Amino acid sequence: MTTATRFAPPKDAPAILRARSEARARLHAAIPAGYSPWLHLAGTTSVAIVALALGLAKMHAPTWVELLTVPVVLLFANAFEWRAHKNLLHHRQKPLHHLYDRHTPEHHMVFGYDDMAIRDPRELKLVLMPAIGVAGIVAMAAPIAFALGHFWSPNRGWLFLVTSAIYVVAYELSHMSYHLAEDSFIGRLSLVRVLREHHRRHHHPKLMQKWNFNVTIPLFDWVHRSVVSKEVLEETLEHDRREKTPRDE
Ligand SMILES: [Zn+2]
Ligand SMILES: [Zn+2]
Repeated sequence: MTTATRFAPPKDAPAILRARSEARARLHAAIPAGYSPWLHLAGTTSVAIVALALGLAKMHAPTWVELLTVPVVLLFANAFEWRAHKNLLHHRQKPLHHLYDRHTPEHHMVFGYDDMAIRDPRELKLVLMPAIGVAGIVAMAAPIAFALGHFWSPNRGWLFLVTSAIYVVAYELSHMSYHLAEDSFIGRLSLVRVLREHHRRHHHPKLMQKWNFNVTIPLFDWVHRSVVSKEVLEETLEHDRREKTPRDE
């Protein structure tokens, strides 16, 4: 079976579903033959493991005050996640336009509100950012970690770097878990079910520019009042139903 026929929707499917299937077939076909989802996952997780191993080797008896770096970094990281998702992943801005290109017209096109799960492990390529990108984000945090370590205390610098690396990898793994089959072992976990619903609403094309930008814990969605309300969601879904049902003349 060719990729195109494998993803072909029924002939009478609505235009959006046909467009989604075509995008999926095109992006699926563009995944290099040598791509390994397991290697991709291993590359991503190893960024956190290496940072943690380095941090544990370099830190010396951090005090409670130094350990407060961890919750502070988690807070900043959650704020950064909200802002970057809203401004960079949903608005095309040079020179970071590749982030938008991979996210809005690709990731959001393939995975919709009613169709969130990957259909085979190779589609992890359409969910996870490249492992080198994960390492790149951590590398961007390194100068701040270095400054903290140099001017304040080495332990604070390492705690900053390790927490940043673990946060980025947690972002990737949590995002992946929302795009696994709902009846898989991970997809059935209650925390994943709750957070997946938050992210699934963000995947609705009529909601994605305005609501639910946090992917991990929706703390800054709450701060910015961008958690989509039940009323807005119901109204959007009702609008969808009306569009699909031909009106009686
Ligand atoms: Zn997603
Ligand atoms: Zn998005």
